[in-house]
Amino acid sequence: MNVAGHGASVRIESCGKTFADGTRALDPATLDIARGETLVLLGPSGCGKTTMLRIIAGLELPDAGGKVLFDGKDVTSVPIERRNVGMVFQSYALFPNMTVAENIGYGLKIRGVARNERSARVAELVALTNISGLENRRIDQLSGGQRQRVALARAVAIRPGILLLDEPLTALDAALRDRLRSELNRLLRALGITTIYVTHDQAEAMELGDRIVVMRKGAIAQIGTLRDVYFAPKDRFVAEFIGAANIVEAPMEGGDLVLPGGRLPVSGETSVAKAIAMIRPETIRVVEPGRGPLSGIIDTVSFVGDRQRLVVSGASTRPLNVDAPNTIQARAGDRIGLSIAAEAVRVLPSED
Ligand code: ATP
Repeated sequence: MNVAGHGASVRIESCGKTFADGTRALDPATLDIARGETLVLLGPSGCGKTTMLRIIAGLELPDAGGKVLFDGKDVTSVPIERRNVGMVFQSYALFPNMTVAENIGYGLKIRGVARNERSARVAELVALTNISGLENRRIDQLSGGQRQRVALARAVAIRPGILLLDEPLTALDAALRDRLRSELNRLLRALGITTIYVTHDQAEAMELGDRIVVMRKGAIAQIGTLRDVYFAPKDRFVAEFIGAANIVEAPMEGGDLVLPGGRLPVSGETSVAKAIAMIRPETIRVVEPGRGPLSGIIDTVSFVGDRQRLVVSGASTRPLNVDAPNTIQARAGDRIGLSIAAEAVRVLPSED
């Protein structure tokens, strides 16, 4: 396969953005993205993800003092068409009057790539993005998922060093989104292009990102690997934005969280008098009543396929979500014990 590009490294340095109307979309941020890495920008609507992506693309200039570097070279004032980036947006932006093959080959044609090389490259990409047989269809004869595959093939046809994706799956229905997400994952690994992927969907971020940048109100809340942001979130916002989290607010005594259902050893900052702690539902183990440090009563049990979700009251200050294997017997009304490793009870910085 020779469709693979050469991923470029990306550095943005003190890149902030205040728009002409005074809206501050992005606080000055510095960020390094390694060659071939997939970095996901994740955060709620309006937090500045697209603005950051557009600055990297060259569609938006950063405020004075900001710099964008590709492979160490300053490209801040280089226009998008000379940055060697491929882009895919939520809306496909394909040429409706061209066929699938013409759309994919468009960038190659305007770059003067010879016809036979062009058709060879298009054929490879058609195979790689699973749209064989559709080459001669017009865009309006395609489904949403097929259009998004064409958009992707077109973006990578020019062998960009950097691929920029802005919510490319958001417009699709849930089942298709799931399927395309894993196809996209495979494609990105095969191509080895440096990829920056904007989404507000944490499942996408978890599947696709080597690292995740969690953004909030124009600022970077946390940068890290999936494990970092999942198990060691910096604050409550990150903890609740990524995955399911029980947030527990309770007094501390001698390194333990003092809860209605027992005392729980914690990790991290233990010297505070009152703590906000995070516990992931899947880190809580159900044990015999009277066994683990906490006890409570099962309120509800819901079967979730590969596991069951229990809601347990009386153990913590609020009902605790617990993910248990679906092989254990659990009924509403049962008294149970709960065991949680200290490492899984993370004290978060206090919010003042
Ligand atoms: P979404 O997930 O909804 O696309 P986002 O995180 O990508 O959101 P941005 O599109 O980067 O957010 O927008 C960040 C902020 O900047 C928002 O408050 C938005 O309204 C504002 N904004 C974006 N473009 C402009 C513009 N051209 N002029 C003024 N304000 C803008």
